[in-house]
Amino acid sequence: MSSMSFSSSPISIPDLKEIVTLRHHLHQHPELSGLEYETSHTLQNFLQRYQPDEIVSELGDTGFAAIFHGKKPDAGPTVLFRAELDALPILEKNELTYTSIQKGVSHKCGHDGHMATLVGLASMLHQQPLSKGRVVLLFQPAEETGAGAWAVLHTPAFQKIAPDYVFALHNLPPLPMGHVLVRSDAFAAASVGLKIQLYGKESHAAEPENGQNPGEGMSELIQAFTILARDQHHFQDLTLLTVVHARLGDVAFGTNPGFATVMATLRAFEQDDLNKLKSLAIEAVKLVSHKYNLKYNSEWVEEFPATKNSAEATALVKQAALDLNMDVIRAVKPVRWSEDFGHFTNLYKGAYFGLGSGPNRPQLHHADYDFPDELIPVGASLFYRIAESVTNP
Ligand SMILES: [Zn+2]
Ligand SMILES: [Zn+2]
Repeated sequence: MSSMSFSSSPISIPDLKEIVTLRHHLHQHPELSGLEYETSHTLQNFLQRYQPDEIVSELGDTGFAAIFHGKKPDAGPTVLFRAELDALPILEKNELTYTSIQKGVSHKCGHDGHMATLVGLASMLHQQPLSKGRVVLLFQPAEETGAGAWAVLHTPAFQKIAPDYVFALHNLPPLPMGHVLVRSDAFAAASVGLKIQLYGKESHAAEPENGQNPGEGMSELIQAFTILARDQHHFQDLTLLTVVHARLGDVAFGTNPGFATVMATLRAFEQDDLNKLKSLAIEAVKLVSHKYNLKYNSEWVEEFPATKNSAEATALVKQAALDLNMDVIRAVKPVRWSEDFGHFTNLYKGAYFGLGSGPNRPQLHHADYDFPDELIPVGASLFYRIAESVTNP
């Protein structure tokens, strides 16, 4: 497939074949956000062979951490690496020997590969423990809904882990295989979902004058939202508002509908811009509901903070990649998608970075995506090198 050669991969992974098989097993048995019980169980069982010094379970329900001590654990810092446990509600279109057996659920973000990468790191730490400090391998639930990182951070058992540094990678098509994408400060956008309900009054379709149909208000709101997103002069940097769903009443020709739903996703690279966009959106809702005499209800869902990297941690990633002869690319702009790792980097020194999974690969979240196995040792070696340089500078 690819002809990568990394001159100084610190340690080989003797059981790489079994780890690849594990990845395929996880791929074949995907679980949705918050329901990753089997995935978590499978990983905890598999990791036993590396004799972690501690396992902290039930982090945000299905999540857990496997902790590997250095030879002198108290003489160095604690460095955390995160992988995500969840799959997506997407029907897999691949014909693999390990195609998902869960109809309509599949690993289309490559989280199966991220988990296998952390397992590869466990194998390396078992063979060659670090001289100082501790390495925490965190398997986090529910990244795709933005709920998992928050839940882990608010589990009392996590407070005891108290990492000094946190790192996570995301496989990234179409970036060339094994290239490392870094960015100091904002790496990924902040985003939030907005759900608006407009309430009028139902009546018989033959007597619309006796009801209050919210259709006109709904269409005006969709227009207002679209204009908001177009008007970039309000904002410091890229800001997006995408109407993702709309519905007017139920399907019934005899009924003049009494309610409508409009849903949108709001995004920004800067938290201030997102806050501004949020208040502008609510203002638009108030105007429309007032104009058409409708009641409304608004709800914010799936909130992701911007993922902000520390300059120090970003430099550590970059240096580790260079040590391994990997190509490093500095991202000019943050990526547009969102990532709940921002909850970690808001609290701890850390960095989130991209690892190229090749140009001829479908995009993330596409029905035919599959994580490339050859990236497992690449990611694991990079994490190991980062752990070495953090704990023994
Ligand atoms: Zn995803
Ligand atoms: Zn992902």
